[in-house]
Amino acid sequence: MATRYDFYSDTLTKPTEEMRKYMCSAEVGDEQRLEDPTTNRLQDMVAELLNKEAGLFVPSGTMANEVSFLSNCHPGDEIIMDISAHPYHAEGGAPAALGGITTRPVLGDRGIFTGAQVEEAIRPPHRLRQRSRLVSVEQPTNITGGHIWQLDKIEDVVAMARKYNLYAHMDGARIFNASIVTGIPVSKYAGYFDTTWVDFSKGLGAPVGAVVVGSKEFIEEAWRWKQRLGGAMRQSGILAAACIYALEHHVDRLAEDHENAKYLAHRLCEIPKISINPDMVETNIVTFDISQTGKPAALLATEFIERDVRFSIVAKTKLRAVAYLGITQKHIDEALKIVRDHLSH
Ligand SMILES: *Cc1c(COP(=O)(O)O)cnc(C)c1O
Repeated sequence: MATRYDFYSDTLTKPTEEMRKYMCSAEVGDEQRLEDPTTNRLQDMVAELLNKEAGLFVPSGTMANEVSFLSNCHPGDEIIMDISAHPYHAEGGAPAALGGITTRPVLGDRGIFTGAQVEEAIRPPHRLRQRSRLVSVEQPTNITGGHIWQLDKIEDVVAMARKYNLYAHMDGARIFNASIVTGIPVSKYAGYFDTTWVDFSKGLGAPVGAVVVGSKEFIEEAWRWKQRLGGAMRQSGILAAACIYALEHHVDRLAEDHENAKYLAHRLCEIPKISINPDMVETNIVTFDISQTGKPAALLATEFIERDVRFSIVAKTKLRAVAYLGITQKHIDEALKIVRDHLSH
């Protein structure tokens, strides 16, 4: 049964009536034969927005990350990423399982690491070692709390990748959230990287879909992997239409989610036994510490669900709340009344 006050993730965003209507009217064809006009259009739109040569529609963000890795890495290669990164925790071990690729976690500051840390993680070229091949940056971060990489941080890390001839990849699941906050165009962020992608099933509100972008050559290889992984579809224009609708109508409104996340953080801050610094909230993700309750996050999360409020668990003493389309300040007030009441006895 659905939880009434559900802050679990922005993946809970449901397609609006208007989006559904737009999906219904999509012109379609066979995607695998490159004959689906709507999918083709979406790919072109995203490639243009991110200023890359080509784009590829995939069913999920996970597949976007994985086709990027699999296209540019070989068995025995290694990918450097933050210890909090999504592919390190939440993609079923795909780099290892599918590509014979190892992952090298770096302990960044809330998900944001430095060029010096990359240099330290790079293996010296030697037949005893895995070959360091790619650096992956999550912009903005997810489970560390939606933090935005400043351009100088990106430049530092990418310069180091270039120095050692590594590919640079940006997990841009929520790249539009970063861009809406900073005013920096998504193309500027994408410009630093060889490969990147956008998720449409997070705050943008489409039911499924992501578009990965890069050079024409890379997209050719990514197509092979998408096919191999079973990600090639047929009349996917129905789905791509939702993503086009999201690009046209749901990007600017992400600002509302950011405002609501800030509001949520300030209200959480007023609740005894919860620690959070609202100034650290930059996008639509709020993480907060509950160690003062004396309960592990998993137990507390279960107790909250029993009272119809859902958060996700991101660490032993940390919960995460995410704002998305449909979450209002009234909603937040009502939910936090329950949270406050629950923690008061
Ligand atoms: C959600 C997410 C993914 C995976 O996307 P799915 O569409 O859920 O497969 C990858 N990276 C980050 C940072 C994410 O937040």
